[in-house]
Amino acid sequence: MNWDDFAQWGAKIADWGADYHKTLRDRPVRPAVKPGEIIAKLPASPPESPEGMEQIMQDFERVVMPGLTHWQHPRFFAYFPANAAPPSMLAEMLVTTLAPQCMLWQTSPAATEMEIRMLDWLRQSIGLPDGFSGVIQDSASSATLAAVLVMRERALNWQGNQKGLAGGPTPRIYCSDQVHTSIDRAAWVSGIGQDNLIKIPTVKGDPLRRMDTGALQATIAADRAAGHLPAGLIGVTGATGMGACDRISDLAAIARAENLYLHIDAAWAGAAMICPEFRALWDGIDLADSVVFNPHKWLGAQFDCSAHFIRDPDALRQTLAIRPEYLKTHGHSDVTDYSEWSIPLGRRFRALKLWFLIRSYGLSGLRAMIRNHVKWSQDLAGRLAAEPDFEITSQPILSLFTFKRKGDTDQQTQALVEAINADGRIYLTQTKLDGQTVIRFQAGAFGTEERDAHTAFDTILEIARTAP
Ligand SMILES: *Cc1c(COP(=O)(O)O)cnc(C)c1O
Repeated sequence: MNWDDFAQWGAKIADWGADYHKTLRDRPVRPAVKPGEIIAKLPASPPESPEGMEQIMQDFERVVMPGLTHWQHPRFFAYFPANAAPPSMLAEMLVTTLAPQCMLWQTSPAATEMEIRMLDWLRQSIGLPDGFSGVIQDSASSATLAAVLVMRERALNWQGNQKGLAGGPTPRIYCSDQVHTSIDRAAWVSGIGQDNLIKIPTVKGDPLRRMDTGALQATIAADRAAGHLPAGLIGVTGATGMGACDRISDLAAIARAENLYLHIDAAWAGAAMICPEFRALWDGIDLADSVVFNPHKWLGAQFDCSAHFIRDPDALRQTLAIRPEYLKTHGHSDVTDYSEWSIPLGRRFRALKLWFLIRSYGLSGLRAMIRNHVKWSQDLAGRLAAEPDFEITSQPILSLFTFKRKGDTDQQTQALVEAINADGRIYLTQTKLDGQTVIRFQAGAFGTEERDAHTAFDTILEIARTAP
């Protein structure tokens, strides 16, 4: 491909993207394909001769488009959002074109310095004190793994990387039973192991399902008596299932008394903290050792962009930095080499989309979006609660709530979710709450409008009253 063709196709694809987004409401959110349908349309072997871009784009429409779930759809109410605001897409187009590797300051000084500044903008935006430094990780899972590795090294006097875990007591980590599976995987990958990730129950009947800190203290005391090595505590603000929020100030007091490293997973809910009125949900966050939230979820910075804030970056570097001769930056001892802050060496230029995004909307624009989502979600919960055959099983936490049709078994609830999603107008998912299957609703897509929440109400009622 020559650069004239590139310019021509680039313009065509930008037009295609605008048309796609303008007509997204007319498409079903989830495709009606069966497993194997797409792969059957792909040739089993690669072409020997070159093919034209025209043909490739036609096949993209024919093969790929029918098999997509539309995450940017205004009526995507499943999981959590993965928003790609248009200015962040444009920034990603530039980054894709430049394709720099941003592992060291000298491998792209603008990328490193932009990242430092953008993470500080985000820090201020969500109300974290200025003692926190930030880095962009590829995912919240990676940020949490990095935090768990710091917990391990700190507890083992920085000997774990060298000596491994055999022989000594194994560090133990505590969290509630509401946390995301990325915490389990961090325990696996760090060598700490599932048996040393201790899940503390949440307080029965608590609307925020916070961790039972009495049970936490009793467990830590029993573990110490048994010769285990308590190393860290992971709290959550806005857990994936129903939005559970631990009381971070209580966790921080215990972490301090027990000398535990405290990490907070606010992957989804952290974005809402740009609105000061929601910060009560993570009161005490200033006392955490690290915090992660995903601007690639609710805020609108195209995937991937996970903001990881750390009180003591030296501890993180001591855990992860490795400096072979070929990676040394001679003559600059005062620069930040971000690859020392994360597990992969190679890094994309992710900060540019934050710059484009935050400048294009301003914090006021992003706050208005989040406040709307919270309000529409609360309104919908109120309307469903007023219907005689529905019950709200957990009240809205920010823009997330759960509900079910009264009297349904787990199987019937699951069947209702399937029927709603097969209809195509909206897309929802289910979760388990206190052992029973419930339906999850969250509003958070960049393109969602109030009328989309009304469509959700109409669709849910219509399907619930006509489906078996
Ligand atoms: C989405 C989510 C994660 C995982 O985020 P990734 O960036 O996909 O790793 C972790 N914790 C919570 C609470 C989440 O909502």
